[in-house]
Amino acid sequence: MQFRIGHGYDIHQLASGGRLFVAGVVVSEEMSAVAHSDGDVAIHALVDAILGATGGGDIGEHFPNSDARWRGASSGHFLAEAVRLAAAGGWKVVNADITVLAERPKLHAFKPAMTEAISHHLGTTAVNVKAGTHEGCDAIGRGEAIAAHAVVLLTRNV
Ligand code: MG
Repeated sequence: MQFRIGHGYDIHQLASGGRLFVAGVVVSEEMSAVAHSDGDVAIHALVDAILGATGGGDIGEHFPNSDARWRGASSGHFLAEAVRLAAAGGWKVVNADITVLAERPKLHAFKPAMTEAISHHLGTTAVNVKAGTHEGCDAIGRGEAIAAHAVVLLTRNV
């Protein structure tokens, strides 16, 4: 058995109006992420973690924000593609751990739904989604931005 670890990070500014997607779940209908796609920071971080573990580059290479195809795109599509690319190399996800950092909206109540949505995409229930704040520090702490870290472990039989 081979194992690979991957890490991803993403941040987006928050704007008034629209819908905010985090880990595949609509967590607010009063604000949105400033982004080319749907701006789902948790999924973007997770995609980078999976690509990183497989040595597959980064999300910007696969889904450039200069490409009109990805305008308003569901980040679930990016995640499905990252999982597909990993699987093509024989890799499957062992577990994923995601930390979302936001002062607003409050994410606590959405953690079960976010965990379920990510589990569905990854094909494993070994998924953990954590939600924290930045304790009033920096742009995240002022409620101007939302960020996420993701770590995954992949395995394949060799
Ligand atoms: Mg992003």
